[in-house]
Amino acid sequence: MFTGFNIAYPEYEVITPQTKLSYTVRTLKVHEEERMKASLITPTKITEHLNKCIFEAIVKKPEAIKDFSMFLKATTLKDREALLYGLYHITYEEIRNYDVRCGSCKKEYPVTVKASEIFNINPYPGNDILDKKVKVLLPVSKITCTIKQPTLQDELDSLRNLVGSPGFTMDLLSETLIIEKFEQEIPGSSESMVITEKQDVVSGYQSLPAKDKRSIYEKYNEEFGQFNITLRMKSFCGNCGTEEVSTIDLVENFFRMVYSS
Ligand SMILES: [Zn+2]
Repeated sequence: MFTGFNIAYPEYEVITPQTKLSYTVRTLKVHEEERMKASLITPTKITEHLNKCIFEAIVKKPEAIKDFSMFLKATTLKDREALLYGLYHITYEEIRNYDVRCGSCKKEYPVTVKASEIFNINPYPGNDILDKKVKVLLPVSKITCTIKQPTLQDELDSLRNLVGSPGFTMDLLSETLIIEKFEQEIPGSSESMVITEKQDVVSGYQSLPAKDKRSIYEKYNEEFGQFNITLRMKSFCGNCGTEEVSTIDLVENFFRMVYSS
């Protein structure tokens, strides 16, 4: 009777850039990779499976992270990228045939590179990333927008709330995820109008002057977004020789690898 192999699965330690916790992940197993492939149906399913997959591949985690639901609440989207990087590195190692478009002659060419060779990290300097809120006074509309660093739980809540609603796109979801609320002063009143309901936040966001969107994003990057891991690589066009620097989207590439293997 076959009772299973005795395999020492390769492991890799990841320090998350924003919450700065230490996790050890092991390589994906064949059946997990297959399950991921089967999950690529709806954005909600993809996200749920991605989170589950990462969590199940964790072999060592901080003591405070007792279970999956706590993991979702205590892990930021940027932290997930780092965990995904660890999972990627230990499972696939190489980023294969990544298509780069030459900025000069517009030709596309494939590049293969070791993930670890292009890895950069910029850790968040404080310990308050999960509680931190920053107010931004939007220059054109004069509305005050409060932004935060979303967690995996915030992302799931938003997905469940917004998928299927008119005009929903994944871009709209990720752009509004960082918005906690809007406040607008009511002329002649000491009270202000406060928008916190997700659907209303999305509608409000869509009605902002285009320039205000940029202010939200700039502030987010300065306060939260820059504290992250990045995979940045240099390549040279075989056609005209122009150097290209590309930043690899790890989530996208992870699914590309899962699909092609
Ligand atoms: Zn070129």
